[in-house]
Amino acid sequence: MTSANTEFKLIKAARVIDGLGGPPIERGAVLIQGDAIRSVGSEEEVVAPEGATVEEFLYEDKTVLPGLVDCHVHMIGIGDGRRGDDLALLPDEVLTLQAAKNARTHLYSGVTTVRDCGAKNRTTFMLRQAVEMGITPSPRLLLTGRPIAIIGGHLSYFGIEATGEVECRAAVRQLVKEGADFIKITATGGSTRTSFPLRPSFTVEEMTAIADETHKFGKHAAAHCVSTQAIINALDAGVDTVIHGAYTETDGSHKDRPDVTERLAKQGVFVNLTLHQARDKQWQLEAKAESEELTTEEQAEVDRIRSGVEQSLEHGSRLRAGGVTLVSGSDAAWADYKMGGFQDEVQAHVELGMTPMQAIVSGTSDSARSCWAQERVGSLSAGKLADVLVVDGDPSRNIDDLKKIVDIFQGGQKIDRGDYV
Ligand SMILES: [Zn+2]
Repeated sequence: MTSANTEFKLIKAARVIDGLGGPPIERGAVLIQGDAIRSVGSEEEVVAPEGATVEEFLYEDKTVLPGLVDCHVHMIGIGDGRRGDDLALLPDEVLTLQAAKNARTHLYSGVTTVRDCGAKNRTTFMLRQAVEMGITPSPRLLLTGRPIAIIGGHLSYFGIEATGEVECRAAVRQLVKEGADFIKITATGGSTRTSFPLRPSFTVEEMTAIADETHKFGKHAAAHCVSTQAIINALDAGVDTVIHGAYTETDGSHKDRPDVTERLAKQGVFVNLTLHQARDKQWQLEAKAESEELTTEEQAEVDRIRSGVEQSLEHGSRLRAGGVTLVSGSDAAWADYKMGGFQDEVQAHVELGMTPMQAIVSGTSDSARSCWAQERVGSLSAGKLADVLVVDGDPSRNIDDLKKIVDIFQGGQKIDRGDYV
């Protein structure tokens, strides 16, 4: 047994939220042994073995909960509004450094696990190598590497374009060889200049080949879908997570599709709506409006985003009512949404009707389930990795308290954030 395994830490707090949705444990405690959680419960129940050396952390008026799991990030993003087409022009070395900066920022804001939904070439794998060497701090990284796109499709500039079932299977094998933990597909176009956002990209046969090959390796597939037909195709193909998930027709109109909702729920497909990304831009413009007058274009943009966000929230609340599991994933640092603000995505789930506790579940254990990582992270329970947050206040009553980070433990180690608060 190594010395790390005999090292105990006992965290006591006013309350413990385990991330699974049950009521908080008042005067709770978490016992950590090495990098894992050994037990969770009330202060009386949780005791270290007799004779053990225990380091105690007492947080009398604070709340302890699992480290947050952001199921949708782009580590190489800058969040300064530039398009992906332009981001992809930067050299891999610069993008890898940006990824390291984002990794630190996101970790220090309370996110201890991320699923990266697409980067250029091998940049995120390089980040992982540096993290494993201890060069830079980072949330735990679940990576796809490059997303798989059709020729000219969304994110095709990152490096894998596949045509036909054979190439689709080959792309999955190549990514797995490079170290992919899951596979990201762009099932419609998106912001990519040469893509068609309202139309499906891959055929059902191609997407089925990708999902099947991915599952063969014991991994999961997530699909970017901004049209109803693409969601239906992803359901036919056996994809595990639908990203964005808007019900948009080919002509751009929105139409509720209870039949699709029913299939999403029945097949247990997770939906990551990326609710806050647009709202972040809205907030930036609203903040700007306080000190200077917005241009006509900016004012039009705020109005457009506001009604879009409202529509997404209504859509989300209908999906929930239909039994679909919604998981929090920020999509930072894509477009204007910088790293470090994942809590705003979690909060948006309260806006669509979740209780704060349900929203916490969407950003911890449910998010981990969507990443197929629930055996290791996403909840405070015996045997899980000891990724633990300490926050001021009580986020199960006021979701904004999720931002009031006091301390972060990752793998049982308390993180020194230096001047970063
Ligand atoms: Zn994304």
